Amino acid sequence: MASVTFDRVSKRYGVVVAVDDLSLSIADGEFMVLLGPSGCGKTTALRMIAGLEEITGGELRIGDRVVNDVDPARRDISLVFQSYALYPHMTVQRNIESPLMARTYRVDGPTSPARKLTKAERDERVAEAARVLDLEPYLKRKPSALSGGQRQRVALARAFVGRPQAYLMDEPLSNLDAKLRAQTRIELVDLHRRVGTTIVYVTHDQVEAMTMATRVAVMRMGKLQQVGTPQEVYDKPVNTFVAQFIGTPPMNCLTATFAADGNGIEVAGAGTLPLPAGLQAKVEPGRATVVGVRPEHLVADDAGTLVANVRAVEWLGHECLISVEADGQLFTLREPGLAAYAVGNDLRMSVAAAEVHLFDADTTERLT
Ligand code: ATP
Repeated sequence: MASVTFDRVSKRYGVVVAVDDLSLSIADGEFMVLLGPSGCGKTTALRMIAGLEEITGGELRIGDRVVNDVDPARRDISLVFQSYALYPHMTVQRNIESPLMARTYRVDGPTSPARKLTKAERDERVAEAARVLDLEPYLKRKPSALSGGQRQRVALARAFVGRPQAYLMDEPLSNLDAKLRAQTRIELVDLHRRVGTTIVYVTHDQVEAMTMATRVAVMRMGKLQQVGTPQEVYDKPVNTFVAQFIGTPPMNCLTATFAADGNGIEVAGAGTLPLPAGLQAKVEPGRATVVGVRPEHLVADDAGTLVANVRAVEWLGHECLISVEADGQLFTLREPGLAAYAVGNDLRMSVAAAEVHLFDADTTERLT
């Protein structure tokens, strides 16, 4: 097992900067999710770890070893892609065994010469992978006789047999339907808990990031925005991009100004919100700001200080999403159960001071 360290790593394709000065330390045994929208550079970052992309600048280390110029086959990592790429003519057993046939391993100790595995050693590793990934009943089948989820588990088993220092996964669940995706998320977390090997996992799906990661690295346009536990990035997003990328529905980010008396925040056309504790020093009365409130923290309250007009009420069975509008700004509340608000009526709301996020109107950075 090993850590993975990006030290000011960049990747350029001509004028396109796919990864821009990335510094990120992934600890040994971590489940790190690289999260961001399409084109943010997360796949390029993963491919650099794998050795499939040359590094333009900076240093990349796996454990203590600088791997900038190390051949992919010598990096001791396994890749799992969204397409399972199983050999259709081979049984599950042979598919899982296939990487072991192609490579040599330092099985006799880290300084011993690398050699091919014996048949008995291969059989033992395949048996272990099949047990860990619950594939024992299917070893004699061909991939065509498996479900999508079972095929994905074969792809994982094939990565597992090499006993790599780290697993690299690029959107491995995106070909599965919603139910199977949810189930496989749980299986992946369980697998990680049992084997403890470092996982670097790329996705644009914030639910995958929130549910599986030990830490999440949020990227945008080649740049790392924030790295932290799922709770840290949810509770304290560093800018409005992270605030709105994490969470469904996203955080409401509203145009506002600091009140003239310095004691609150005036949301355009809606009313006043309390100032979060500790921010007094940052207040410039009359200055524009962006106020962030998660939909679950906007509470319908007859004594509230915000008013907006109800535009839509969507009942999802377990909760209601209520869209309201003030001065052309739309924002969302979520309430458990069924909410009986009439479209077109005004709704009064409040937000606890501790749940108010403030961002600089120019830089979009969090004011803390
Ligand atoms: P997606 O989720 O769509 O795969 P991503 O976040 O993984 O996106 P990358 O595939 O890493 O993004 O791409 C980052 C940027 O680099 C994009 O602007 C992309 O167009 C560009 N890029 C990637 N590969 C190449 C290439 N071979 N040549 C030129 N530009 C490239």
